[in-house]
Amino acid sequence: MKNIVIFGAPGSGKGTQSELMINKYGFGHISTGDVLRAEIKNGTELGKTAKGFIDNGQLIPDELMIDILASVYDSFGKEHKGIIFDGFPRTIPQAEALKKMLADRGHCIAAMIELYAPEDILMARLLNRGKEQGRSDDNEETINKRLAVYKSQTAPLIDWYKKEGLHHYVKSYGILEEIFADVCKIIDEL
Ligand code: AMP
Repeated sequence: MKNIVIFGAPGSGKGTQSELMINKYGFGHISTGDVLRAEIKNGTELGKTAKGFIDNGQLIPDELMIDILASVYDSFGKEHKGIIFDGFPRTIPQAEALKKMLADRGHCIAAMIELYAPEDILMARLLNRGKEQGRSDDNEETINKRLAVYKSQTAPLIDWYKKEGLHHYVKSYGILEEIFADVCKIIDEL
């Protein structure tokens, strides 16, 4: 099992690279953002709670996210060659919980791949996605809040994963095929 954390700021290309990785490697995919948006669409209690945080550009509390993650992970069959964690972890307590949850099951993270793009590119991509897909949090005000939350709460995970010996860097702007080739090189060497 090659479990992989695909990591980066909003707009860094986690969803795009995940899709390419799923097609090439047959990985399973857990996007916590997608899980929450499905809950909102279905009008569940969790969805109602999540919507307030998401529309305000804030993170959903760790305890809630950690519970959700474990149940989604356990719902996957064993046929996958690994799971891509997309949008999780976003805080150090989430990273610690993920490590423990996997260890309890005899599993681990094989790599954390950081997708990096400068802020002007992130903003342009997210505004464009907002126009194309109509995501309620892809507007300039909320994007600025999400980028600030990324810097203060999520970016410290780069050092956390460096200490774990799992961090890999990919320059995530320029030509899509080249970015994906860099991602594949990391996965193929695991
Ligand atoms: P994403 O689709 O990954 O950009 O996530 C959209 C929003 O869902 C984020 O801005 C957060 O409000 C919420 N969210 C997704 N994943 C997490 C997580 N791991 N921890 C806390 N909040 C999350």
